[in-house]
Amino acid sequence: MRLRSIRLGALFGIPLLLNPSWFLLAGLTTWFLATQFYPAAFEGASRWTHLLMAGASVAAFFASIVLHELAHSVVARWFRIPVKSITLFVFGGVAQITREAARPLQELLMALAGPLMSLALGAAFAGCWWLLGARADRAVDYVLVWLAIMNAALGLFNLLPAFPMDGGRVFRAALWLVTRNHALATGIAAWTGRGFAWTMAGLGVLAVLGRDVVVADSLAGGAWLVLIGLFLENAARQSLLQNRFVRELARYRAEDVMVADAPVVDARQPVGPLARGVLELNPRAVYLVSDGDRLAGVLSGYELQGVPEPLWDSTPAGAVMVPKDALRATARDRLVSDVLLEMEMEELLHMPVVENGRVIGIVARDRIVGLLRQAGLLGTARA
Ligand SMILES: [Zn+2]
Repeated sequence: MRLRSIRLGALFGIPLLLNPSWFLLAGLTTWFLATQFYPAAFEGASRWTHLLMAGASVAAFFASIVLHELAHSVVARWFRIPVKSITLFVFGGVAQITREAARPLQELLMALAGPLMSLALGAAFAGCWWLLGARADRAVDYVLVWLAIMNAALGLFNLLPAFPMDGGRVFRAALWLVTRNHALATGIAAWTGRGFAWTMAGLGVLAVLGRDVVVADSLAGGAWLVLIGLFLENAARQSLLQNRFVRELARYRAEDVMVADAPVVDARQPVGPLARGVLELNPRAVYLVSDGDRLAGVLSGYELQGVPEPLWDSTPAGAVMVPKDALRATARDRLVSDVLLEMEMEELLHMPVVENGRVIGIVARDRIVGLLRQAGLLGTARA
């Protein structure tokens, strides 16, 4: 699944991406509908009609999945949670929502929006079929019924309390509402999700071996179930890992990890002396930049690396620093897990720690990442 996604365009400003793995799903579904399903359901039609019906079904189902993801995204936006992109891939779609909801009710509504959209689409396709007379001798009727069933199935399947599927997110939000403990709720939901994943994979194996397990009774259905089970298991495990990150970082407060003695440099000073001999030894170097006796910004190894060496002596610190207005301050007693969340949300590398209007230190993102590495949590995340 490391294939590069293709950008199809944007909806409401949200980029719509297509992962090449989606063609596998589209191809298999078109093949199955054109050569197996529609020939059996609508015997009277020609092979070309069956192919056309299959093509129309897959295209409309594609649009349905986009609408499902768009529903999640619109609710996320409503709560001011930025959505990076919507990607369609072999198991359907995913909306890249940049951070988790801050409140259980937001999470609940955000997760519920997708399945509700699918169920509504199912009802709409069924309604069209009924309004058009529900006949058995027309191609369009079979396509509408297939779309109604698929959307309803997608909505219901996604409502299973198998975290991190939509239903699992609803389940977690409900646990979070009751326990008021996000980490505990995520733990319970993720372990339940793993249980579902293993059940699905197990049932899939039985189906592959020829058993009729109700949800699947064929080799293809069984194999599909095994793949979805493994995919879910992996996703649930990732969520548990992320949960451990949060718990590890919640042991620290901003004042425990901040650099309290960052050197202060004048905004007009060239960056040469700051970068020379420093970047190689300590790329984590960070400076407070002052304008007179006021804070003008923060300058770190990251910004210095962006300046070509021949320009070091002619570039003042003030020209490359992150200006004060682009910084977001934090309080000394803020949990580091929350600090990192805000950094990721706002794409920040540093946050000054401010007390009584005075900067008392700087928290750097790489220091937080270092904490996770020390705790042995990052080695597994890379895998
Ligand atoms: Zn969804």
